[in-house]
Amino acid sequence: MSATPTRPSLRVILCAPRGFCAGVVRAIDIVERALQIYGPPVYVRHEIVHNKCVVETLRAKGVVFIEELKEAPQGKQPVIFSAHGVAKAVLEEAKARDLFTIDATCPLVTKVHREAQAHFKRGRRIILIGHGGHPEVIGTMGQLPPGAVALVGSIEDVEALAPDGGDIGYVTQTTLSMDDTLEIVAALKRRFPSIHAPPMEDICYATTNRQEAAKAAARQVEAVIVVGAANSSNSQRLREVAEREGRAAQLVADARAIDWRALEGVRSIAVTAGASAPEALVDRIVEALGERYAITLETLTTASESRAFPLPHILRETV
Ligand code: SF4
Repeated sequence: MSATPTRPSLRVILCAPRGFCAGVVRAIDIVERALQIYGPPVYVRHEIVHNKCVVETLRAKGVVFIEELKEAPQGKQPVIFSAHGVAKAVLEEAKARDLFTIDATCPLVTKVHREAQAHFKRGRRIILIGHGGHPEVIGTMGQLPPGAVALVGSIEDVEALAPDGGDIGYVTQTTLSMDDTLEIVAALKRRFPSIHAPPMEDICYATTNRQEAAKAAARQVEAVIVVGAANSSNSQRLREVAEREGRAAQLVADARAIDWRALEGVRSIAVTAGASAPEALVDRIVEALGERYAITLETLTTASESRAFPLPHILRETV
């Protein structure tokens, strides 16, 4: 009789908070509610949130994802703008084409748009700390005329800025690394001592809370798995937070993407998820770990969240 091979033990720490934030919940609710009220097809410009699983689930319910407004026909079916926000030019194009639009921009992204506009109205030169090409950055820069906002993503970018030519202010992308951003802000303050900071931190509560939980858990384990999409900024930042703590970290879209070789010999692991990753994906990661290891599961909670954003009026009023 052959003995059943014993599975190696693995301590698994689930980070809390992790996964969906209030802005993502609201964006998905907006699409679901629009499907309910107007029926399919509902058009969504850009991925509603950066997660393939979410996108495919909505596509199966009749959502048509488009990159440009010209792909949406005129008519009564709504076109929804994603949680990342859109440039003013997109709103104007939609108006010119008389499209029925619903805005799922996260209210915390809208807050950054307003701050950038307030700097502009006061005649300030505006610096945006963010990652070039990200939809949120395109949307924030697009609130103002071309050339009004200078984008910086590193201390080198700050050093390369033209010398102070008067009043200056900065805003940031909502999903940045807190540690990297502190360094960039410090560099900005060194170069421009009178620079105006946002009245309240632009990096959102969800980004901050997930990074703090990931950092605290990373300190207690040998490796970290981040569940999220490769194009999700806050998921990438979670991977970086773990790596900064000296841990082997992998960003995986789902359980099938786990690099098991990288986990050889590892006896403790933390699992977290980006703000656009559904909890079901985390469950499947834990299941997959349980198939290979004798796991002990713990949760490390560093903050509790209760924030929720209301739906747009049109979806609240229409029955
Ligand atoms: S990560 Fe923050 S800014 Fe982005 S959708 Fe979520 S709550 Fe809003």
